[in-house]
Amino acid sequence: MREFVYSSQPSRVVFRAGALDDIDAEIDRLGAYRALVLCTPEQRVSAEDVSKRLGERSAGVYAKAVMHVPIETADEARAVAKQLGADCCVAVGGGSTIGLGKAIALTSELPILAVPTTFAGSEMTPIYGITAQGQKKTGRDSRVLPKTVIYDPLLTLTLPAKIAGPSGMNAIAHCVEALYAQDANPITSLMAEEGIRTLASSLPRVVSEPDQLDARSEALYGAWLAGACLGNVGMALHHKLCHTLGGSYNLPHAQTHTVILPHAVHYNREAAPKAMVRITLALEGADPAGGLYDLAKAIGAPLALRDLGMKESDLDAAALLATQNPYYNPRPLEGAAIRQLLQEAWEGNRPG
Ligand code: NAD
Repeated sequence: MREFVYSSQPSRVVFRAGALDDIDAEIDRLGAYRALVLCTPEQRVSAEDVSKRLGERSAGVYAKAVMHVPIETADEARAVAKQLGADCCVAVGGGSTIGLGKAIALTSELPILAVPTTFAGSEMTPIYGITAQGQKKTGRDSRVLPKTVIYDPLLTLTLPAKIAGPSGMNAIAHCVEALYAQDANPITSLMAEEGIRTLASSLPRVVSEPDQLDARSEALYGAWLAGACLGNVGMALHHKLCHTLGGSYNLPHAQTHTVILPHAVHYNREAAPKAMVRITLALEGADPAGGLYDLAKAIGAPLALRDLGMKESDLDAAALLATQNPYYNPRPLEGAAIRQLLQEAWEGNRPG
């Protein structure tokens, strides 16, 4: 018999090509007047365009967002927001920029309007991460959930294939682990299956036909579903492994997700049969682990940890780190099997 708890995250989503035109009205809706626009140095042009649209309501552009939100950047951005009298933040970018907005919101409670330009999904979650003294600490806090999210596929047209592909695989990973989450529920599972289906069918076109707005729009829709899954239920082995590898060995976030995902699915295949059926359905009949590996290969994404700069001699320590603290996973954490998983991922073998 069914038994579940479902709670959704309270955020407003506006999704359409050209939705950025609504930004003024959406800031009004938040009851805010002066927005600090956040971005990475690489996306300054997009952020300045947003700032220009806001006119007098822009407090300025802060273009120093970087991966994993170093505490020094967070502190500086918090001070700039205060000094410029900002009463909200507009985060234009991927998980790194939205992460910076979250760090500001954590201490100031300034509302965030997120304008995501990758498929990472951070905009839909109350999860934040801040790196201090080389250690990334993550937490959940309702204050950091963006109040409004503007999804405008036009902004993803500049995302190059080598970032778009892994970013989409990162989103698929949220959906996959939502299907076998400890607190999985029927609504999140519907979203997760649809997210995998939409991303798996659109990503090859995003990469092969980069100017196709329709494919970008589908991938962004999948990313929204994936972000909502990540925000609503807990994750398991795959996310834990990626967090360990990213944090301890400085591996790139989305690429690490891409490499690990097929192997984590293979590890869990017998312990999560219902999830595997849904992944197979979403992949049009493909074997879950093998199908995800083939998808990553088809979109030219990395397949091996060794190609991301991981040393084989670090695999023993990584396996220990990833199993040190107990956490939920459908299949119990078995040291030797996790070590073997990492070996397969390091070599880039097709699982099974
Ligand atoms: P990112 O934000 O680091 O962006 C990668 C690069 O792509 C950057 O140089 C960025 O400027 C560029 N870029 C982004 N959009 C672009 C576009 N449309 N056109 C051209 N260039 C563009 O990458 P990401 O994968 O989105 O985010 C990774 C970070 O987000 C990690 O730190 C991860 O931990 C975090 N994250 C957090 C959550 C959460 O819920 N808290 C969820 C997912 C990811």
